[in-house]
Amino acid sequence: MLSEAEEKRIPERIRGLVDLAHNLWWTWHPRARRLFRALDYQAWRESTHNPVLMLRLIQPARFVEASQDPEFLALYDEVMAEYQADLSRPSLDFPGPIAYFCAEFGVHVSLPIYAGGLGILAGDTLKEASDMALPMVGVGLVYSQGYVTQRIREDGWPEDVHQVLDHSAHPLQPVLTAQGRPLTLSIPAFDPPLKARVFQARIGRIPLFLLTTDVEENAPWDRAISQQLYTTDLEQRLKQEWVLGVGGMRALKEMGISPAVLHLNEGHPAFALLERIRQFMDEGLSFAQAIQRARETTIFTTHTPLPAGTDVFPFSLLDRYLTPYCQAHGLPREALLELGTHPKDPGAGFNMTVFALRLSRYVNGVSQKHAEVARKIWGGISFRGEEVNIEAITNGIHLFTWIEPLRVQRLLDKYLGSDWRESPDDPAVWERVEKIPDEELWAVHLERKEALISELAARARKRWQQGAPAANILAFGSLLDPHALTLGFARRFTAYKRPDLLLYDLERLRKLVTDPLRPVQIIFAGKAHPADIEGKRLIQKVFRLAKDPNFAGRIAFAEEYDQHLARFLVAGVDVWVNTPLPPLEASGTSGMKASVNGVPHLSILDGWWLEGYTGTNGWGFGEGEIPGDRNACDAGNLYRLLEDRVIPLYYERGPDGIPHGFVRMMKEAMKTVAPRFCTRRMLREYLEKFYKPAAVRTEVP
Ligand SMILES: *Cc1c(COP(=O)(O)O)cnc(C)c1O
Repeated sequence: MLSEAEEKRIPERIRGLVDLAHNLWWTWHPRARRLFRALDYQAWRESTHNPVLMLRLIQPARFVEASQDPEFLALYDEVMAEYQADLSRPSLDFPGPIAYFCAEFGVHVSLPIYAGGLGILAGDTLKEASDMALPMVGVGLVYSQGYVTQRIREDGWPEDVHQVLDHSAHPLQPVLTAQGRPLTLSIPAFDPPLKARVFQARIGRIPLFLLTTDVEENAPWDRAISQQLYTTDLEQRLKQEWVLGVGGMRALKEMGISPAVLHLNEGHPAFALLERIRQFMDEGLSFAQAIQRARETTIFTTHTPLPAGTDVFPFSLLDRYLTPYCQAHGLPREALLELGTHPKDPGAGFNMTVFALRLSRYVNGVSQKHAEVARKIWGGISFRGEEVNIEAITNGIHLFTWIEPLRVQRLLDKYLGSDWRESPDDPAVWERVEKIPDEELWAVHLERKEALISELAARARKRWQQGAPAANILAFGSLLDPHALTLGFARRFTAYKRPDLLLYDLERLRKLVTDPLRPVQIIFAGKAHPADIEGKRLIQKVFRLAKDPNFAGRIAFAEEYDQHLARFLVAGVDVWVNTPLPPLEASGTSGMKASVNGVPHLSILDGWWLEGYTGTNGWGFGEGEIPGDRNACDAGNLYRLLEDRVIPLYYERGPDGIPHGFVRMMKEAMKTVAPRFCTRRMLREYLEKFYKPAAVRTEVP
């Protein structure tokens, strides 16, 4: 947040920029982006699109100049009017706010409190809730060192760099009490008592409340609770989830927010249910009634297709917090412990997913396939004799975030009209993609590809200046060729995602990338979880190949995969590749981001792609179980598709130099994926199937 003195440097006439910079609304409104870019292009680039930081970097003279420039002022007035109009729309009629809890939120690079897909989904959900005028509030944690970037060493090993978060350089504001002091919470069950503060980020109309224990009143080890996202220290992790769940509910109460329904995104925030039950008992309900009401008003979304992917805490560990909590509030400890116990493995400990499954009346997996898998994994979990019912609501992406704004969105505005902005989930609107002339779509795509390649070159130059090993600079993509068919593979590096499947047969791969007439190049990007040694080994494997002269600069690895780089990649490569081991991709979303930019998806048939693949909007392979050596079989299919289908289609040009067959596939990808796999469709489903019926139950004892 800017200080008062910093604000005063900005002339009154354009001081609304301060408010605008602190609301991430600007991130998905192209005119607002243009406004910040126009204010000071260099500061815009230098701050990596962080207007709060920008406003600090800009010289006072530039503000004065802007405040007297009629063109700038016209744009400013237009943006401010659009912003005010959006924020002052009435909210959808609903009995109370929907409290959306998640351990991470990926809204924008300027708020680095996310690790990957789960956080991006949560961020996209809040943006959509704002667009739909849903009364939602987000609850999460702000991590003081949560953001890990990875720098590649000369030997290809990714080294973790923990960034320290400076609250004042991000769009965060402290939540204050009526007396103007920072709101300080006491988190129950800690000895000595644990304090937490609350920051607020604004996502359009939606407030996102973020708790931290990094406050002076706490002992150093307690300050560290909210230091790192997904810390591997089990007790620290438990405390973190306690702060998120129990502390998050307390924070809402202190701020006078009484949620009609809770939405727990993954198991990490499930302790919110404890505090919800306690609050209902405070209002006079019995324990049984409180459980009933909490359950009837809670939505739980599970994301992991692996039982091992869920948090299980030893009972002895949990007891350190649960016992004092139950004693202080008169809650039955035994009954609560039982709710988190897996019947097939009662000794394992307290399972956060099992607890959330039993205490949520509305449960879903994140694709049809994943719901099926989740039903198998969690079959046998029941509440009061009734088996937990797991439905499917397939994930989506926020189109206004992920469709490239400068060129692709403008192209859509031109040919689809403003309807696509009002009704992004209407397939009829997307049929109009057919009206876009091939040459225009192709020209826009080539421009995005050049933008990606020059971004990678700029990053490589910067690393060169910083003294990165010379041999690494080539591997960062400094020799990429805008005319070559370019595959993109960007995601978290971990074994089940098989980032090395493309490397299965190096001789076959070498032939593809060094073909003199029809070359293929591949851009990899991704980070591994700091504790995932196997994932880091995979990065090293890919990076070594990118340095290998036999592959002639046609394989690149981009460091620091984050939302910013992701936006370049999903619009700038030609084909998006995805090769996870089925059925472990619960949904996957990056293929959706690529498709809506006209970048067809070449993927294993798993997760969302089982629903999204039509036969003409990309390529699919490897459905279901495969006996024998699965990697060999999948790699064979992948190479065959590339050799026989993808490469010929891409290089088959008309007399005008345009690959009309490939452009046909680009259009099919946009038309079929955008309306079905957007957050508008997704959140409408949550609203109709879950939020509305749950809210009705708010009144039932
Ligand atoms: C979209 C996105 C992800 C998730 O992509 P998946 O396809 O689900 O693996 C991860 N990280 C970033 C930065 C993203 O933008």
